[in-house]
Amino acid sequence: MFHHVKELQFKARVSKPDPRFARLLLEQFGGPNGELKAAMQYFVQAFGCRKPYPDKYDMLMDIATEEFSHLEIVGATIQMLLTGVNGELKNAADESDLNKLLDGTAAKETYIHDALVDPHFFLVSGGTPTLTDSNGNPWSATYIMGMGDPTVDMRVNIAAEATAKLVYENLMKFTDDVYVKETLRFLMTREVAHLQMFQAALESIQPNFPPGILQSDPKFSNKYFNMSEGSFSGPWNEGKSPEMGEEWQVVEEPVQHIRDTESLLNEKASGTNRTEKSVQETNKALSAERKAEVDLATLPKNGEYNWDIDPDKASKKKKSGGK
Ligand code: MN
Ligand code: MN
Repeated sequence: MFHHVKELQFKARVSKPDPRFARLLLEQFGGPNGELKAAMQYFVQAFGCRKPYPDKYDMLMDIATEEFSHLEIVGATIQMLLTGVNGELKNAADESDLNKLLDGTAAKETYIHDALVDPHFFLVSGGTPTLTDSNGNPWSATYIMGMGDPTVDMRVNIAAEATAKLVYENLMKFTDDVYVKETLRFLMTREVAHLQMFQAALESIQPNFPPGILQSDPKFSNKYFNMSEGSFSGPWNEGKSPEMGEEWQVVEEPVQHIRDTESLLNEKASGTNRTEKSVQETNKALSAERKAEVDLATLPKNGEYNWDIDPDKASKKKKSGGK
């Protein structure tokens, strides 16, 4: 269950209303790298982990819940930045007097200008956050990635945290409000913290490379195709590959190579100890291991499937604060 606590996770404050920055900040409310995306991504990924990997379930739900708390902070900040808008709109009788509006004071001019900056706030949402990005595109579940495999999901999450961090970094350049900056810095920092949590979680799964189960074909896993004149050298085509430790093999003349090998049908493995036989063995062993892990964890107990965590699997639970 969820239980709502009325305090914000971080004391969000604003010096003065600023509808223009409120619009930019929508990017982290309903945008593709925003807080709702993060919250929903980790929430959805958590389900498949509950039984086989209760520790990953726990982490994903904790971080998802924190992301909802960030969504709340961003929404609260947008609302404070839009202070006055809703009240002005409620002054419906006054606004219906078009002449008065057009002959209005500088404040009215600013109001009209702000309305043009983000018509949604003024025409649709009545001065409250909209679940859109800063351009008004509605939030979409297409932002969410979850593949039911923690070796993939942790990597996707590392990328999500990196992009969220950078959007905060960019947002900080567009406000001088020290209070807003303070909040953005907190939110940015938490994404850096989450990034490392997902990294550590990925490391705790062994083996975790390549993502998923099936091993890569040793004929092609370490070949670098030199697809232009004068390609640069670097650790991506020189020395050993970082995860598998195979020697990079540069195909200097790809066109000739494709013809010589009959479009790679006759390609030979080189720079690697892996063979077709060793690959098939690993595929079989890892498939069996991962299937057994999931099957064992999801067996019915006493004729029912339930959502309880197996006490044997809960042994690594944190000691304090656990209920
Ligand atoms: Mn966040
Ligand atoms: Mn995060």
